[in-house]
Amino acid sequence: MEYFVSLERAREIGDQLSIETSEEVLELDEAHNRILSCNIESLVDDPPFDNSSMDGFAVLHKDTPGRLKIIGTSQAAAAEELVMKEGEAVRIMTGAQMPNGADAIIMVEKTSTSEDGEWVDVLEEAKPGWVRKKGENLRKGEAALLAGTKLVPHNLGLIATMGHPTVKVHSPLRVSIISTGDELKSPGEELQSGEIYESNSFGLAGLVKELGCIPIRTGACADSISTLRKALDHAAENSDLIITSGGVSMGEWDLVRKIMEEEGEIHYWRVKIRPGSPPLFGTWKGTPLFGVPGNPVSSHVVFRMLVRPWILKQFGIQGPYDSTVPVTLLEDLKAAEDCFTLRRVYVENIEGELLASTKTHQGSGNLHSLVSANALTYLAPGTTAKTGQKIDVILL
Ligand code: AMP
Ligand code: MG
Repeated sequence: MEYFVSLERAREIGDQLSIETSEEVLELDEAHNRILSCNIESLVDDPPFDNSSMDGFAVLHKDTPGRLKIIGTSQAAAAEELVMKEGEAVRIMTGAQMPNGADAIIMVEKTSTSEDGEWVDVLEEAKPGWVRKKGENLRKGEAALLAGTKLVPHNLGLIATMGHPTVKVHSPLRVSIISTGDELKSPGEELQSGEIYESNSFGLAGLVKELGCIPIRTGACADSISTLRKALDHAAENSDLIITSGGVSMGEWDLVRKIMEEEGEIHYWRVKIRPGSPPLFGTWKGTPLFGVPGNPVSSHVVFRMLVRPWILKQFGIQGPYDSTVPVTLLEDLKAAEDCFTLRRVYVENIEGELLASTKTHQGSGNLHSLVSANALTYLAPGTTAKTGQKIDVILL
C-alpha cells in the first residue's frame, strides 16, 4: 500500500488495475449519455445533394439582378430533378434540391413576382454561397465520431444524419454505492438526536449516471464490521466497481479503512488533494473499490478527480481528464502546502473577462458551497495566487 500519494501517482496506481468491459448495440433512442466503443463512419454524403439554404429562387448567378422566367418549383423531397437554363428561375424551398443548371440562390425577400406568377424580378445579385454543396459537411465513409465520444444530443443527431439507426457503445459498468455511518438517515425519515440526512449516495449516483454507467444505491450501512462485510460481499458479487462513502479517515470508527486493511487489499490510502485527502483505493474480493470520504463536498471532488478518470480509462479514454480554463482572481487564494487544492469558486464573465471569487465558506461538509460554485480551482500544492492573477479552474 502507498500512503498519502500525489494526485498524479494516485491515478497511476489506479491505472494498474483494470477490468474487462464489453460492448453492446443500442437504438439511438437509448444511447444518450453512453460512450462510443468504435469510430462511426458516415453512410452518406451530408448533404446527400446540392440544396438551397434559403426559401427563394434558384438562378444562374450571371443572370442577376434581372427579370427571369419561372419554370417550376423545387420543394423538399420532390421526385424529379428540374433542369433550367439561362434566363430562367426555379422557385425553391429551404433544403430542396438545386435544379440542374442553377448555381446561385436569391432569397425570396429580394425578389418580386409578376401577378400572373410567370416572372420574377431579381433585385440583387444572387448568392452562390447559399447553395449547400453535396458532401460539404461530411463525405461518405468519413469517420466523424471517434471511439470514446460521449453521446450528447448533437452527437446522436449526427449519427442519425450519417444514416445509422443503431450505435455500438460500451456496456455500462454496474457501480455499487455504499454509504456508511450510524448517523445517516434517508431523507423522508424523522431525524433523531445526532442524526443527519444521507446525501452522498444520491450525488454519487448522479455522477455515475453521467458516465453512462448504472449506480446501485443501497440504504446507508451501519458502522459495524459484520454489516459492512455483508454489504461489500453483496456488492462485489453484483457489480463491476464499488464506491463506499465515509469511514476512511484515521478515526477508530473509520471501519471501511479498517476492514479493507484486514480483509481487503489497499493499493493507496490518502491522496494529496484538498478537499478529499482521505480516500483509499483497492479491491474487495477482486472487485475494485474506491473508498471516498464522508464529507459531502469531498465525496464529489474525489469522484471527479479519481473515480471518473478511472472509469473513463476502462472505456479506453485516455486523458487529459481535467479540462481547465484560465480565470482572473478577484481575491487572494492559497493552496495547501502539500495538497492540490480544489476550492469552490464562482466564475462570471464580466465585460469579456472571466473573474473568479469565493462565494461561501469552504468547509468540506458544506454541500451548499458546491451548489453556489460553478468551478473548482486547479491549484498546485504550495501555490499562492494574488488578486488579479490568472489561475486555472475546472468548470463544473
Ligand atoms: P466520515 O468520513 O465517515 O468520518 O464522515 C465525515 C463527515 O461526513 C461526517 O460529518 C459524516 O456525518 C458526514 N457523512 C458521512 N457520510 C455521509 C453521507 N452519506 N451523506 C452525508 N453526510 C455524510
Ligand atoms: Mg463515518
